[in-house]
Amino acid sequence: MNHLFANASSDKANAQYMIIGIPYDATTSFRPGTRFGPLAIREMSYNFESYLPFQDVDLRDVPFYDASDIEPSCLPDSVIHEVEIVVTEVIGKNKIPIILGGEHSITIGAVRAIKPEWYIVCDAHLDLRDQYRDSPNNHACTTRRVFDSGVENIIILGARSGTPNEYEFAKRLCVYYANDVHERGIADILKAISKKVFEKRIYLSIDADVIDCCLTPGLGTPEPFGLTPADIREVIRKLAPQTVGFDYVEVCPIDSGQTATVASQMVREFIASHWKEKKKSGTTTNSMKY
Ligand code: MN
Ligand code: MN
Repeated sequence: MNHLFANASSDKANAQYMIIGIPYDATTSFRPGTRFGPLAIREMSYNFESYLPFQDVDLRDVPFYDASDIEPSCLPDSVIHEVEIVVTEVIGKNKIPIILGGEHSITIGAVRAIKPEWYIVCDAHLDLRDQYRDSPNNHACTTRRVFDSGVENIIILGARSGTPNEYEFAKRLCVYYANDVHERGIADILKAISKKVFEKRIYLSIDADVIDCCLTPGLGTPEPFGLTPADIREVIRKLAPQTVGFDYVEVCPIDSGQTATVASQMVREFIASHWKEKKKSGTTTNSMKY
């Protein structure tokens, strides 16, 4: 069994991307198991060629490092704080953090550390509850906590589930529901998003359940009538160059490996798309302002 992401062979000091696993699922509301997500995503990375033809990037040439998993506490507030500390350290060294979940609540800590100009989240759920099951840091509250942390420029993409209160709150944000994507197509929506976030620093969070559960069923809270893996790949390709923090969360590997396989390829797409743009523009992460 392989415990680190394939081709993550750069030494730590020179790495420009840092993979961190957060095997945490204590506030999971329906089906537990996302704590096994990071391992499953890494395992599936050995299935792929190191070369990504679309970007013309060979991952063996990209300086990225897998820092393995943190050992999370049990309480969500503590885990969020732990993630915030780790991510602060990573960005302090001018590296891009790539976080593998674990449940979605871990994103709150990463966003607090990075303080992006825009938070873009792909998720079946609005995650706008003020609190859930006695915790304001439950995974059903992630986007609301991001908003409360001062990052009010929020785009939600692919949502199709929430309470009436959440739908009401969502009117204050920019939301492209799953139906909007079905009607307009992802390319048209990405055009609108790109205009909005032009040259801004983005945090990009992908909750695996944004993808239709009939395609990737390894999910803690599955929802049908979602987006396709190709839709999310387009989002990543388009937005990666201006993304300063990335996570892929809520993979619960109880299926035949489809969900972790897609997640693994999305991580590779993110790295290759970001790296390709960097090579083209000649910039380094050192010139990116956190
Ligand atoms: Mn979520
Ligand atoms: Mn979700």
